[in-house]
Amino acid sequence: MRTSYRHTKITFTLGPATCEPAMLEEVIRSGADVCRLNMAHADHDWVRTMVARVRAAGAKVGRDIPIMMDVKGPEIRTGARTEPLELKTGDVVDMIVDPDAPASEGIPAIPVNYPLLVRDVPEGGLVLVDNGLIQLRVTEKTKERLRCRVEQPGRLGSRRHVNLPGIHVELPSLTEKDRNDVRCGVECGIDFFALSFVRSSSDIDTLRSFLSELGSRARIIAKIEDQSAINNLMDIIDAADALMVARGDLGIEVPYESLPLIQKNAIKLAMTAWKPVIVATHMLESMIENPVPTRAEVTDVSNAVLELTDSIMLSGETTTGKHPLKCIEVMTRIAKKMEGSLPVGFIGHARAKLDANRGAMAHTVFDVAKIQILHAAANLALTLDNAAVIVFTRNGDLPRVLASSRPHGAPVFAFTEDPVILRRMRLSWGVIPFLLPFQEKQVDTIHAAIECLKKEGWAGYGDHLVIMTNAILDGQIIDSVHLHRVE
Ligand code: PEP
Repeated sequence: MRTSYRHTKITFTLGPATCEPAMLEEVIRSGADVCRLNMAHADHDWVRTMVARVRAAGAKVGRDIPIMMDVKGPEIRTGARTEPLELKTGDVVDMIVDPDAPASEGIPAIPVNYPLLVRDVPEGGLVLVDNGLIQLRVTEKTKERLRCRVEQPGRLGSRRHVNLPGIHVELPSLTEKDRNDVRCGVECGIDFFALSFVRSSSDIDTLRSFLSELGSRARIIAKIEDQSAINNLMDIIDAADALMVARGDLGIEVPYESLPLIQKNAIKLAMTAWKPVIVATHMLESMIENPVPTRAEVTDVSNAVLELTDSIMLSGETTTGKHPLKCIEVMTRIAKKMEGSLPVGFIGHARAKLDANRGAMAHTVFDVAKIQILHAAANLALTLDNAAVIVFTRNGDLPRVLASSRPHGAPVFAFTEDPVILRRMRLSWGVIPFLLPFQEKQVDTIHAAIECLKKEGWAGYGDHLVIMTNAILDGQIIDSVHLHRVE
């Protein structure tokens, strides 16, 4: 049984450094599991071209990977600029919402796309620009502008991201731009939509209804980026299909020293709810320039792996970075090393939920008994040498639930005949998905699955395969577990 493989999945963001077809093939070949398109910097033609390229590269490499469209939600930005504006400590600037408002002489005006900016930010409040690199303190307000003093200097470029820590921004959770982006994503067959700045579960419901109006079965990833999301975390996790700890904005919106505990808690809660979780941003930031990570980055990636996140994510490292393939290699090396130090057994938190039977989830979404049988199958595999679990799935739910228990030492081979489900399963910790047409006779499907594992070098002579199947008896589905020894 091949047991040495990376369980923690890698999400990478597509950009100029990775979007050429040959490079994309290399990225997928080197093990990237999920491709992210960041809609802050993408138009629809680019999306269509990139989706086609990712699908073509996956087909060529023989590894079809899911595509995540990261829609920006209620994001605030400064206006477009042709030249950067140099801001020095003590300089005075005006933040304006109407780009045509008359300017005050000698004071640069910075347009911002949030109409309620002047109403919402109090005198003495902070406006953070470009991920907090530039800090502006409000000294005075009039009807059409916030006059600010520069406290933290910097170069203001075009369309920079603005954070207003502690302010509840009154923008719709799904803007018109987001709706247009989602329409384009649905047309292209996007697998996951990541929604930025989710503040409550109703934001997820809004996107869910829109997707269902469009007839899409894509899954929703909730990006948690501010204090409201932290306050409503469990409801958000329950409403979404997966979670992203978006540390870039989160580290600005909440005191950054809280980040490590928020990350740890979010991973744990996502596991208890059987939802995949991604840790994002600045994981290998210095590798945008350098070919080796800093020691602090190695430790950061290691911690996320040891906290058992489903996926770690690359952003700038693979969009504009100089060493995208090296970043994937570095993450793989760290993940494998750390995973090797983890104990064998169920090391996740999902079973606590199963036992505690939190809320109505367990009853409504899944059959509790089925999950108990699934865990029994994994338990059997964990007690045998060289053993794995085989699951056949039509919707990917069972492998996802099993993965949430993190059955370390029992590989989960998940067979599906649906390419959409195959791609979706790539996000879940330790799940190894395969595409296989299901035969009329179950025994033939099982045989084909075992042959596939042998052919691809996952299983060999003497290995044990614990196979979860079901049959119909007197009109009832009977779940069962078979133990098979590979001949
Ligand atoms: C983040 O803030 O960490 C993040 C992933 O979101 P974005 O790239 O939209 O800033």
